[in-house]
Amino acid sequence: MSNAPRLIDPFARAITYLRVSVTDRCDFRCVYCMAEHMTFLPKKELLTLEELDRMCSTFIGLGVEKLRITGGEPLMRRGIMTFFNNMSRHLDSGALKELTLTTNGSQLDRFATDLYAAGVRRVNVSLDTLDTDKFARVTRWGRLDQVLRGIDAAREAGLRIKINTVALKGFNEDELFDLTEWCAREAMDLTFIEVMPMGDLGNEDRIGQYWSLKDLRGDLAMRYTLTDLTERTGGPARYVRLEETRQKIGFITPLTHNFCESCNRVRMTCTGDLFMCLGQEDNASLRDVMRAHPEDDGPLIAAIEEAISHKPKGHDFDYSRQRADGQVSRHMSHTGG
Ligand code: SAM
Ligand code: SF4
Repeated sequence: MSNAPRLIDPFARAITYLRVSVTDRCDFRCVYCMAEHMTFLPKKELLTLEELDRMCSTFIGLGVEKLRITGGEPLMRRGIMTFFNNMSRHLDSGALKELTLTTNGSQLDRFATDLYAAGVRRVNVSLDTLDTDKFARVTRWGRLDQVLRGIDAAREAGLRIKINTVALKGFNEDELFDLTEWCAREAMDLTFIEVMPMGDLGNEDRIGQYWSLKDLRGDLAMRYTLTDLTERTGGPARYVRLEETRQKIGFITPLTHNFCESCNRVRMTCTGDLFMCLGQEDNASLRDVMRAHPEDDGPLIAAIEEAISHKPKGHDFDYSRQRADGQVSRHMSHTGG
């Protein structure tokens, strides 16, 4: 049974997609995402697994059909499989159409089979390079072989994989075709993400520079025939098909505005703050409302509906509401990317 969407924003967009960060912690320290020495949130600030369940179930009751679990590194959250197992009841009932996650892949070896058993069918794995040394440099603490083992385990478990690659000029520019061909061979989709300016990471050793996806696309077109696909997901991704390999390539340019009219999503941080738009700071704290009413979901539902009624028309990364340099002060590891 599916729920009719009940969360309709002021621009008549139905909110059917929730991305939830379940932890701010991570076993990697990717240079564009985190500082090497991070101060993480105290445990009591985080939603417990039971609270995450209650929160997600409430959204599903309000018509959310797609749930993406992210972080930090979601598979580093202790007990996270209990949460996935419990969410599968909403898949069984038909209210939830898709339960998925974005991961750095380091723990997939351990969890792939259980994720499949919980009803997960697709996983996004972030991977910027196929070179062992470069991988260690960009993730600081990661090991490529562990991630590749995780990807293998996931495929063996029956999970479909999409690789997400942050485009970094002077870093993985020279791997464009290798990454593309690797994904084609392994039957994985591939999406490139334009790097967002997260300027407060204190990274003097900044690896890679801004590489516009327009340029990247031009580079791909030197080798392949690109056909634009009309497919839209309500998010910032655009897709092309490479005729030679028949594979689908996605481009995510989070700074562009051209998807806002079809935006169907909201994001929740691991502390229960609901962000209506990736590009704006406006948020609603749902945790305290939920904690204040342990037996009654009414006030939580009212707070969610109130928040959605403020969902902005579009984001304005490069305009006045952000800091003057266009940066968002939040880390991706906080809102979940
Ligand atoms: N740890 C998981 C992972 O890496 O897939 C999930 C969380 S991570 C914050 C989600 C996505 O955000 C990853 O694909 C990562 O590459 C991307 N990301 C992080 N910082 C970014 C930035 N400054 N610009 C663009 N993408 C970024
Ligand atoms: Fe961790 Fe993902 Fe951020 Fe890398 S991008 S530091 S894996 S949260």
